[in-house]
Amino acid sequence: MSDDGALVLFSGGQDSATCLAWALDRFPRVETLGFDYGQRHRIELDGRAALRAGMSALNPAWARRLGPDHTLDLAALGAVSDTALTRDTEIAMTADGLPNTFVPGRNLVFLTFAAALAYRRGLRHIVGGMCETDYSGYPDCRDDTIKALQVALNLGMARRFVLHTPLMWIDKAATWRLAEDLGGRPLVDLVVEASHTCYLGERGARHDWGYGCGTCPACALRAKGYRAFVAEAV
Ligand code: ZN
Repeated sequence: MSDDGALVLFSGGQDSATCLAWALDRFPRVETLGFDYGQRHRIELDGRAALRAGMSALNPAWARRLGPDHTLDLAALGAVSDTALTRDTEIAMTADGLPNTFVPGRNLVFLTFAAALAYRRGLRHIVGGMCETDYSGYPDCRDDTIKALQVALNLGMARRFVLHTPLMWIDKAATWRLAEDLGGRPLVDLVVEASHTCYLGERGARHDWGYGCGTCPACALRAKGYRAFVAEAV
């Protein structure tokens, strides 16, 4: 297995788009993986091709490094999840203090499938946009969860995978700043235009921070982060 290839969990949202740029900046060979589990924001998956093409156009070295895109159908995950991401219900907090957008075990499943694919593709590094800073409600985004999973995957597959989470300790404003550091204003503009974050999958209205309903928790977080990023840059 080559030591230098990476697989990026790539949903087409702001976080995974920034992670893709981060990986293209570091690894000579980068492949992407998206999951389809019946989520409401299919529009996010549809934006993936535009982001990949846009990043290739921004930087010839990135174009050389960017390898195939993979999509895995995880309909079974949608079938066992009763959440606001896969059902047409209001986004709210549940009795146990988690948002009802939480899909139990989602990142555990994603990373396990990612490792299985990385195993087949000979890729050592697995990159995901998990973050503790803004998503306090999601236990499978926490650093300890990811580190424990890295150990479990390496034991279970007899490999030395390295799980990278470059956004783990930074907030949304810093995620925009990271995109600017990696690819300048053109990358920020690409992420604004082509990435999708809205829980409701709305793409009608174009705000300064991109497309979305503007009021769901994901839009609110993205808008707040973008405004803080712009305010700091002035
Ligand atoms: Zn929204």
